[in-house]
Amino acid sequence: MKIDVRTVYHCEHCKKISLSKGAMTLHEDKCRFNPLNRSYCIGCKHLLVEAVEYSNTDEEFTGVRPRRKFTCNIDGKVMCHPKIRTFSKERQELIMSISQKIMPNMNEECRFYEDAGIPF
Ligand SMILES: [Zn+2]
Repeated sequence: MKIDVRTVYHCEHCKKISLSKGAMTLHEDKCRFNPLNRSYCIGCKHLLVEAVEYSNTDEEFTGVRPRRKFTCNIDGKVMCHPKIRTFSKERQELIMSISQKIMPNMNEECRFYEDAGIPF
């Protein structure tokens, strides 16, 4: 019988496990359940979500263009998702160039939040 005792790393935010500490550190940073990557605006009645249509001539945003446009009804600003912090610098800059602010994440919260009453 072979017995192999190893350290198993568990994600703080989801059920993922890994034998590699480095891989788990990277995963936790990008994990979609990490509060830093979660938008506080989802479910708020002041969040306006619109589908974005593109023409085929919009080559600039190929592959990175957002499919949905998020607007805050409180200040009228176009917002991008907090998970962009996990994107490449180029992709972040491209998204920030078409956004006016980043949605607050679950740690930052927002004093204007009001439940829209729609379960997601
Ligand atoms: Zn995770």
